[in-house]
Amino acid sequence: MIPYSTQCIDEDDIEAVADVLRSPFLTAGPMVPRFEEALCEVTGAPYAVAVSSATAGLHLTLQALGIGEGDTVLVSAISFASSANCARMVGAAVDFVDVDPLSGLITPETLAAKLKACQAAGQRVRAVIAVDLAGRMTCLEKLAALREEYGFYLIEDAAHALGACRRGHNCGDGACADATVFSFHPVKIITTAEGGAVMVRDKELHRRLTLLRSHGIEHDRAYLENQNRPAYYYEMQTLGFNYRMSDVHAALGLAQLDKLESFLSKRRSLAKAYPAYLKEILPLGLTLPEADSEDNLSSWHLYQVGIPERDRVYRFLRDRGIGVQVHYLPIYRHPYYQSLKAYPPLEGAEHFFEHTLSLPLHPQLNTVTLSYVSSLINEALEKAEEDA
Ligand SMILES: *Cc1c(COP(=O)(O)O)cnc(C)c1O
Repeated sequence: MIPYSTQCIDEDDIEAVADVLRSPFLTAGPMVPRFEEALCEVTGAPYAVAVSSATAGLHLTLQALGIGEGDTVLVSAISFASSANCARMVGAAVDFVDVDPLSGLITPETLAAKLKACQAAGQRVRAVIAVDLAGRMTCLEKLAALREEYGFYLIEDAAHALGACRRGHNCGDGACADATVFSFHPVKIITTAEGGAVMVRDKELHRRLTLLRSHGIEHDRAYLENQNRPAYYYEMQTLGFNYRMSDVHAALGLAQLDKLESFLSKRRSLAKAYPAYLKEILPLGLTLPEADSEDNLSSWHLYQVGIPERDRVYRFLRDRGIGVQVHYLPIYRHPYYQSLKAYPPLEGAEHFFEHTLSLPLHPQLNTVTLSYVSSLINEALEKAEEDA
């Protein structure tokens, strides 16, 4: 099976992990701060908090921002469930923002409409979680303009988008979002096996995240509530979690970050090559994702096409060893969310979900695979036409 995405591990990665295993510190050693510094360098953010997963990072962020019961969190309707689950973890209500039917991204218009509706219904919207779907950054500056009007925290779920760049801003630089969350799951842009990071520009928020990541326990003398205690003294100031990243994982992340540029350029060149192979299929109703431009570079976590007969094409390619995938079922359709509330279907999200297929795209692929995938799609669609 050729997967839609997979990790790229080389001997340097293996060596970096083995070095930590031979060192005195498997966790709470020097690798996590080094990985955090490297993430700040790559993105331009002042602070990074490495965590055990993006899901942990999203949960910590909402907790650190004081969001909880009685609050509403708005989330892109098209995303992985964990984009919304974090709100439930802090006891907040979740509501969904419709997306553009072609890109799957929320827009200033869909967000403004939802905010207005929430205001009319008396819902207190404290946070908006915007997803950089497929690695394409959302128009954060426009969403941030609505933040001034409505007073919510803008959280960027950038699980797909490490290395993306838009209008001179690196994803995660903190220019518009209050927090940006990356995932380092193996299918994402770089991997730490499991892992994530929260990028922030606010010093106090950084401190809260760090505290909550490790049980709510403070060791730093400067921040103790009770001063003049013995050297062994530490105190738990709030109820936190163990969402730390280990040094083993951070070492893998550091070694992977060295290769970020080469991973991105490989993904970008494959994304640039796909249209030439797919162009024969365009008359059959295929639509291509927005191409990169100078001031809008995707990280190309996913190469998502709009396609007729999506389920048939999915089955046809899967049966022939091509790991195409559907990203995603609108979150409100999951039985858990339907059990909370009869969320109505959203037009853009439903259209995007029904017609979109993610084709294989990762740094280990070459154009031979693109050609093979394209010819199989062509075959599947011609067969569907014959049968019709
Ligand atoms: C993968 C993913 C997550 C969760 O990442 P983990 O590191 O596996 O917790 C969250 N949001 C989106 C959009 C994702 O694709």
